[in-house]
Amino acid sequence: MRFVDAHTHLEFFAFKRLPIEMARTKRDLLDMIESIEGNPVVAWGWSEDTIGESITRQDIDKFPFPILLIRIDAHMGVINKKAMEELKKTPSEKFDPKRGYVYEEVLWKMVSVLKPKEITGDLLKAQEEAISKGIIEVHDFVDFKIAETYFKLREDGNLKLRVVLMPYYRDYENVIRLFDNYGEDDLIKPGWVKIFVDGSISARTAYLREPYKDKHSRGILLKTEEELKSIIQELEGKGLKVALHTIGDAAIDVVLNAFEKANIRLKGHRIEHSEMIDHKQAKRVKEMNLILCIQPNFNVTFMETYIKALGENRAKRMNPLKMLDEIGADMIFGSDMMPFDPKIGLEYASQILGGEKALHYYGGWKRKVSLP
Ligand SMILES: [Zn+2]
Repeated sequence: MRFVDAHTHLEFFAFKRLPIEMARTKRDLLDMIESIEGNPVVAWGWSEDTIGESITRQDIDKFPFPILLIRIDAHMGVINKKAMEELKKTPSEKFDPKRGYVYEEVLWKMVSVLKPKEITGDLLKAQEEAISKGIIEVHDFVDFKIAETYFKLREDGNLKLRVVLMPYYRDYENVIRLFDNYGEDDLIKPGWVKIFVDGSISARTAYLREPYKDKHSRGILLKTEEELKSIIQELEGKGLKVALHTIGDAAIDVVLNAFEKANIRLKGHRIEHSEMIDHKQAKRVKEMNLILCIQPNFNVTFMETYIKALGENRAKRMNPLKMLDEIGADMIFGSDMMPFDPKIGLEYASQILGGEKALHYYGGWKRKVSLP
């Protein structure tokens, strides 16, 4: 089988050097950190569901080097005292110094400070794994450094995957400029510009119409309708399209209003995830010729979390493949690395849509007409 994985972060392979996703208890995880000498440590993949409890900075303060442990959903992380000294931030809803928790932009700032500078080997490892899983193309979220690494791999003849580069908004001009130097070809193409509109269900930061079931909060909106409108217009002015990370139902409302007010001219702007999308919203998506990048594997991976965070009723309406397919919304499927294996989502989607259609949405079938 040949897949297009339309939502990846192959850079996460650099955070898998310490495979904390394999830890089954907190003790396991701490032993892993103890066993390595390299510092600082940025590792990704722990979850309360796997190790049975949460991790706080008190567990990792004893280590004399900076540590950042990113949770599986990548919207929350825990840092130790040493890492906190580098952060120099005041407490906020995105930084809880007591537990050492960092969320969203504060988390990403921490990642960029502590992450390894050289990731060629990690990308090669990721590529090998992708190919072994039948993936022939990824739409990969990149900053300048990662984008440049892809071009160098191509130059050396080591790039075997087709890569659509999805730059983060903060860095997109630098990434796009790389195409002037290195050129676009069949292996590397420019893609959609990524903007975070809200957080995630696991971190209770996805922006909801009604509060979470287990927290007095509706989550966090990271960009207002006005801000989004002006970003969309700015990018359209350059012939570029957006990929808006949008999960909660209220965040989807904000995004759809922003698209409407921006008077978009280009077809095929993307909404990433749109996990809580309802029928009315899906109709607006179709009217505005937007593409939904959906992760069918999320219902497999996160259903327990959904039920805990949202209650049964909202949980069972998450990632409504059937409804979206019936409406005829443009969909493209991607794993978001949870896990990095399209077969998990394919199996789930096949039960709902039938195998042929499920595979169709994993085929990047819109690639030619949709690429900006
Ligand atoms: Zn993602």
